[in-house]
Amino acid sequence: MQATQLLSIAQEFGAPVYVYDSEKISSQFNRLTNAFKNVSSLRLNYAVKALSNIAILKLMNSLGSGLDTVSIQEVKLGLLAGFSPEKIIYTPNGVSLEEIEEAAALGVQINIDNLSILEQFGSKHPDIPVCIRVNPHVMAGGNSNISVGHIDSKFGISIHQIPHLLRIVELTNMNINGIHMHTGSDILDIDVFLYASEILFETAKNFKNLDFIDFGSGFKVPYKEGDIQTNVEELGKKLSTKFNEFCKEYGRELTLAFEPGKFLVSEAGFFLAKVNVVKQTTSTVFASVDSGFNHLIRPMLYGSRHEIINISNLEGRERYYSVVGYICETDTFGSNRRINEISEGDILAFKNAGAYCFTMASNYNSRYRPAEVLWHKGKAHLIRERETFDDILRNQVDVEDLFQVKKLKAEAK
Ligand SMILES: *Cc1c(COP(=O)(O)O)cnc(C)c1O
Repeated sequence: MQATQLLSIAQEFGAPVYVYDSEKISSQFNRLTNAFKNVSSLRLNYAVKALSNIAILKLMNSLGSGLDTVSIQEVKLGLLAGFSPEKIIYTPNGVSLEEIEEAAALGVQINIDNLSILEQFGSKHPDIPVCIRVNPHVMAGGNSNISVGHIDSKFGISIHQIPHLLRIVELTNMNINGIHMHTGSDILDIDVFLYASEILFETAKNFKNLDFIDFGSGFKVPYKEGDIQTNVEELGKKLSTKFNEFCKEYGRELTLAFEPGKFLVSEAGFFLAKVNVVKQTTSTVFASVDSGFNHLIRPMLYGSRHEIINISNLEGRERYYSVVGYICETDTFGSNRRINEISEGDILAFKNAGAYCFTMASNYNSRYRPAEVLWHKGKAHLIRERETFDDILRNQVDVEDLFQVKKLKAEAK
């Protein structure tokens, strides 16, 4: 998307606002599909938690995607967006048996990541096919917050527990129709990933009725110039070869599945915020925007770097800025950034704002969550209204009798 288009969206819908480019989402989807054109059956299940607006889910549906969901609410969003239950996989962790049963009753593919629930579910519902989430204990990436395959991870059933798992399957007579892993958020080294996939193939040989093998996600996208990104074409070539060999040995064509979130939507998103104050201090120049970690928490939560550009002054000379929010906490979006000279009222665009941005937004400081706009075929469509004061009050119960103070004043609204 061009800066002028973003600027006109900020003018039309106000700031702060999230903008998503449908064209970029489609091209990422097609790129991944092409990379695996040599397998006979490929399924991409978009990870809803990255960006869960129904319009985005409908776009994914139109592209032929399935969905990866982690809560019963995400399952319901997917069904509302028109997905048939068979195209939804439900991969929770640490949720109750009751919630898993509720998802199973809706007809979606269940994926179980611990032996306790597996045993309980299998005993009660031996006829419902289940996928199992395996932890291959492979470190992908370096950040332990986003590497979920290693030994201390809470995710998945350890490959060292396969004998126990097989015993449960045999005793309950349940049917395992899929094997799944999700090793972490970044595939930096394709060979490490292929090594993990070998472990998955070895595990798969224990099960006779598989329909699919799900390799999770971890596709790394560039957040700044020069960033390493996953070479999906090379991964596609190498993994497809191994997968086809495995299917031959297994004696049946299986479906190869992935669950990309970030890869599909990160780069398609822009977050637009308005500069309220430019504040010169003894040590730096702060640009304070009408936002904070209530709208975009990734830089503060795990040090993510989002490029920031001043779309109101693309030709201006560059200066160093610290871009901060308006929340009463330290909420630094970026320090020592070279940005075209900023004036109060300018609109800053934060890049890579498609994944884990709006979905992590909150009402901290009693601020409204932003609007969302979809840019589709040269037109801007509002896909979520900015919140209002009513949203802040929703579900609050006014205990007027408790403190002898008046009912919430209508005029305060
Ligand atoms: C979050 C998640 C994904 C998506 O990860 P990305 O890094 O956004 O691609 C896929 N599968 C599972 C099980 C997840 O929890």
